[in-house]
Amino acid sequence: MSYFLPGLWHLAAAISFAVAFGLWQGSNPLHFLSSPAFTLALVVCSSAFFWVPDRWAKKGALKFLHYPLPDWDVLLLGPASHRNWLTHSALLPLLLFGALWNWPTLAKPVFFQAALGTCVGVGSHLFWDCVGSKRHSIVVVPYWWTLREAASRVYLLAGALLSLFIGGALCGGMDAQTPDAVAPNSWDALVTFARHAAKGL
Ligand SMILES: [Zn+2]
Repeated sequence: MSYFLPGLWHLAAAISFAVAFGLWQGSNPLHFLSSPAFTLALVVCSSAFFWVPDRWAKKGALKFLHYPLPDWDVLLLGPASHRNWLTHSALLPLLLFGALWNWPTLAKPVFFQAALGTCVGVGSHLFWDCVGSKRHSIVVVPYWWTLREAASRVYLLAGALLSLFIGGALCGGMDAQTPDAVAPNSWDALVTFARHAAKGL
């Protein structure tokens, strides 16, 4: 089956969330979408480059551009692992948020934009997997342990909300550009970051 239509829906969902974030944080629908780092991360994590014809996209490393990041479970673990519980969760947004928390010096505009694009991209992908597909089955261990339909739907929705929530927190955390003012990793830096992160929500 061609991935074109599902890819288009995933992209539409991602752009909708990106526009909502832009209006919310900057009163401008293109506030974030005008950033190449944000938009690239958004596309890679939500729909990938689904418009590339199948005959090219199925070859070698190009497959990784054709599959959205959460669906790399198919490429890395095999089709039986599709909708793997880790790739279809807020794990990556959490790791990026943790990295910014731990190393405040990472809070450069490009890293921030890419991290935010990842949060919105993963969040919108999980959201559309939840509401847009008929079959729901989160795979914990292939052939042995999969979540049932309703539980899978709740799991995807929870992951989507957490990813978008972390994106909101990042919007606030970006204002806390104080790594030079306070020693990195000191409690002061963490408290400042947390205070600003909370403001983004
Ligand atoms: Zn997926």
